[in-house]
Amino acid sequence: MCGIFGVQGVPGAASIVHLGLYSLQHRGQESAGIVAIDDDGTARVARKMGLVSDGFDGATVGSLDGSLAIGHTRYSTAGSSTIDNAQPVLVRFRGGHIALAHNGNLTNATELRHELENEGSIFSSTMDSEVLVHRLAKSSAEAPATKLAEALQGVEGAYSLLVVIGNTLLATRDPRGWRPLVIGRTPDGAYVAASETCALDIVSASVVREVEPGEIVAFDGTGIRSLKPLDRKESRRCVFEYVYFSRPDSRVFGGSVDRARRALGRRLATECPAPSAELVFSVPDSSNSAALGFAEQSGLPLELALIRNHYVGRTFIQPTQAGRDAKVKVKYNAVREVLDGKSVVMVDDSIVRGTTTRGLVAMVRAAGAREVHMRVSSAPITGPCYYGIDTPNREELIAANMTTEQIAVHIGVDSLGYLSLDGMLESVPDGPRGFCHACFSGDYPTPPPTDPDKLRFGCGC
Ligand code: AMP
Repeated sequence: MCGIFGVQGVPGAASIVHLGLYSLQHRGQESAGIVAIDDDGTARVARKMGLVSDGFDGATVGSLDGSLAIGHTRYSTAGSSTIDNAQPVLVRFRGGHIALAHNGNLTNATELRHELENEGSIFSSTMDSEVLVHRLAKSSAEAPATKLAEALQGVEGAYSLLVVIGNTLLATRDPRGWRPLVIGRTPDGAYVAASETCALDIVSASVVREVEPGEIVAFDGTGIRSLKPLDRKESRRCVFEYVYFSRPDSRVFGGSVDRARRALGRRLATECPAPSAELVFSVPDSSNSAALGFAEQSGLPLELALIRNHYVGRTFIQPTQAGRDAKVKVKYNAVREVLDGKSVVMVDDSIVRGTTTRGLVAMVRAAGAREVHMRVSSAPITGPCYYGIDTPNREELIAANMTTEQIAVHIGVDSLGYLSLDGMLESVPDGPRGFCHACFSGDYPTPPPTDPDKLRFGCGC
């Protein structure tokens, strides 16, 4: 879970990246960074902990000269929330510089790292992404795209990557296409690549196309070239991008996130109606579109019963449980005038640990709700994600440890209904096939990492 953005071919590229990162803030709020390469080939970097708006003033961005730049917003897993792990990574090697921004998780990072350490490599961070930088530096290939192709041989897991070598920007997705990455073009002809299309909109870029799974796209000022060095594998786009992670104003994997969420909400209303309810409300913002779909299908009025404080980030983005608990009340409040005496449907996109949900249900009841029927627009999350979403420990996943009935009691609702796995996969654009649903189904497309706990500290997304 991270956002990546790159631009090639326009002076002041860093200021375009800076804007793009604002639109990818929801993908990671722990740190943000920009690397820019000037016309003499000098690379400059600025990396800050916290939000894009906190860390990057005009002077900082203005000091990052050049017509090529990449940026990153980072969402880390536990224990790795430090500036050392902020991206983009920038290193100098015998061939000049390499800069890299990564969204995803490499599942064989531990093995690859051991291999490199045995050969004498020294690591300066705990990120899996650093493995890629070492492999790039070791490659003897001349052309940047070939170098990247070589470095990626034998790398397993999820990666959408932006890499700068010399004055070439490279964009690539792993052969299963877990994480999104789209190419756009600004009105003055510069190419951009971004995790989501909402980041193209902010810089007035139009969508050119997606980077295909297993493809390396090179932007070097003379246009774009494509290389397909990696055997394409069965598509495994992350269904959770549609359920929760991406912004509804984006298109990811070629489909509209808004349309996906509305369809999920409609299907949820069909599968799990709430006959006694008088109104529907969402847990803002990520379930707004699903709640709209539920309201549309059920005929119930959609109300604004929970108000979200927009100056507080995504709950889970606090890496410790203590931080998460405190944030529920800081982040939401209930509207008594809407809820008092009513039987209500509360729609959320997912339940992970149950912490937020439990706090919200208590809040809704305290505001007078007579009955609370919780409806979830995804299937129960029963397994960790090894591909870039922060749901790593089975022990922490409520649906891995309790039945739906037990969860209902635990979170304090009158009824609880989850969307079925089939219902979820049939509702998303271009479904039901070609998606990774491992966290819902246990169907992992790769062998799990040999050392998942290590992977946690090494999340490179
Ligand atoms: P909880 O009740 O503690 O399981 O939290 C559920 C809430 O977290 C839902 O509102 C989701 O929108 C949100 N959520 C789901 N998955 C994630 C994730 N991986 N990171 C951050 N927030 C998430």
